[in-house]
Amino acid sequence: MKYKRILLKLSGEALMGEQQYGIDSNRLIQYAQEIKEVAALGVEVAVVIGGGNIFRGVQAEQVGLDRVQGDYMGMLATVINSMALQSALEKLGVYTRLLSGLNIQQVCEPYIRRRAVRHLEKGRVVIFGAGTGNPYFTTDSAASLRAIEIEADVVLKGTRVDGIYSADPEKNPDAIFYRNISFKDVFEKGLNVMDMTAFTLCKENGLPIIVFDMNTQGNLKRLVQGEEIGTLVTM
Ligand code: UDP
Repeated sequence: MKYKRILLKLSGEALMGEQQYGIDSNRLIQYAQEIKEVAALGVEVAVVIGGGNIFRGVQAEQVGLDRVQGDYMGMLATVINSMALQSALEKLGVYTRLLSGLNIQQVCEPYIRRRAVRHLEKGRVVIFGAGTGNPYFTTDSAASLRAIEIEADVVLKGTRVDGIYSADPEKNPDAIFYRNISFKDVFEKGLNVMDMTAFTLCKENGLPIIVFDMNTQGNLKRLVQGEEIGTLVTM
């Protein structure tokens, strides 16, 4: 296996599938299946899911509500998605633990780093809910932070596109695809990989990022087995 311990970041929007809002159960089951296959290979899997399919902090601001309140609402949205994924994984017989950055003890364990690592060592899929537990952050930042904390080998950012391009490939047919790119080049070219906080955390801690298409069946498994899929961002 190329990677022993991974942190998989999935956006909340990806969970919508073809819907406009909420959780598409087919998509959820598909993701759970992909995660199961990777865990079955003996790879330690941690997952962070966004909440954009339900609520984002900026939406609160747009309608005149308090931004910080909105961010906490966004974090709760990630807990809903995390619970859905946990349930889907359990239906497939995968052992999981949901650790939350906000204390919601009836449904999640509190996030404790050592406990997270212990769960991973025991082969449980660990889902990190509620982002970082702080407003003004994103779940990309949560993914970077938790990945560093648990000493993951890589952050795998599952998206709808197959990697990083020099421009939006849907709008610009001349866009160049990068198989490998450095943190420095991503920064200098102004490419959109993750928000700057998340990106900087990875850069400063030498944590590689792979951006890949999560919707192509088997991609996740091929990636951890060492196939060159998506775009690898490294020092
Ligand atoms: N959020 C936050 N702190 C965090 C993570 C998330 O305040 O550490 C809030 C923020 O409002 C964000 C929302 O939760 O907009 C949902 O997360 P995100 O937008 O990252 O979800 P995604 O785009 O991946 O679906």
